Amino acid sequence: MKIPPPTPLFSKGGLGEFESYFLRYKSDQMSEVLKAEGLSKHFGGLIAVNQVNFHINQYETVGIIGPNGSGKTTFFNLLSGLFPPTAGRITFFGSDITHLPSNQRVMKGMVRTFQLVSVFNSMSVWENLVLSSIRFQKEPISEWKFLLSPANNESIRRRCYEAMKLVGLESKALILTSELSYGFKRMLEIGIALSLNPKLLLLDEPLSGLSDMEIAEVLDVLQRVKKNLTLVIIEHKLSKIVNLVDRLCVMNEGNFICEGKPDQVLSEPAVRECYWGKGEIDQWSS
Ligand code: ADP
Ligand code: MG
Repeated sequence: MKIPPPTPLFSKGGLGEFESYFLRYKSDQMSEVLKAEGLSKHFGGLIAVNQVNFHINQYETVGIIGPNGSGKTTFFNLLSGLFPPTAGRITFFGSDITHLPSNQRVMKGMVRTFQLVSVFNSMSVWENLVLSSIRFQKEPISEWKFLLSPANNESIRRRCYEAMKLVGLESKALILTSELSYGFKRMLEIGIALSLNPKLLLLDEPLSGLSDMEIAEVLDVLQRVKKNLTLVIIEHKLSKIVNLVDRLCVMNEGNFICEGKPDQVLSEPAVRECYWGKGEIDQWSS
């Protein structure tokens, strides 16, 4: 099924609800968005995440770094409800969501992206955006209802268009996603996440596999949106996110071994040690 592109109404500016959402000023009052207490995940005998405590306040940008296999993605999988924890508790704006299905977490405002880009290659950029938004409506509507009911789809279209503009893909709205470069696919994935009006955005290695130029473009988008978003970003190469994050957490072998301001964390002997052995220290110290 083909979903029509945005109408001129939405491309002629004016503050859409999405844009005004992004133009909010940071609140002085820092409220806690997410808290994980004693969160663990065992895979048979392997402890991938080991009694982790984590929290993030509204409008904070937190980076999670750590060597490959240290449990970063598994931690995101627990937060986003991809699978249940072996132990521990997760609260989102004070409500216990430990056992909430992942789609309901999205509807509550917790949105994530994946380490490997996950978009529908057989659809256009615009269709990818709209279908994701339809899917996570509080009151789900079918694609047909969306097409036949302008009242239903106006705010969806506006949000999708604003997100598409934010990630610089508006000129590619009708292009088949399979035709996009990996960098643009990554941008689309971030655009889809932004179109869902996240209260918390979890990005799993959004810079991996990208060229230096693409990395700079993704970082530019994240710098622009971060002041009005609560953001957790996993990154393997520390140097890339040092200027983006307010706080860094370091994972090693399933444990959070250190957290604090980026420069404090990077000078921690324990952090240097867990990277030294793996020959990765140069990636952030240079
Ligand atoms: P990172 O994202 O830090 O590279 P992961 O969270 O992907 O690390 O993996 C942490 C450990 O958990 C690894 O040893 C990995 O093999 C294991 N692991 C991850 N997901 C699964 C799974 N679904 N089943 C079994 N083991 C897993
Ligand atoms: Mg990972």
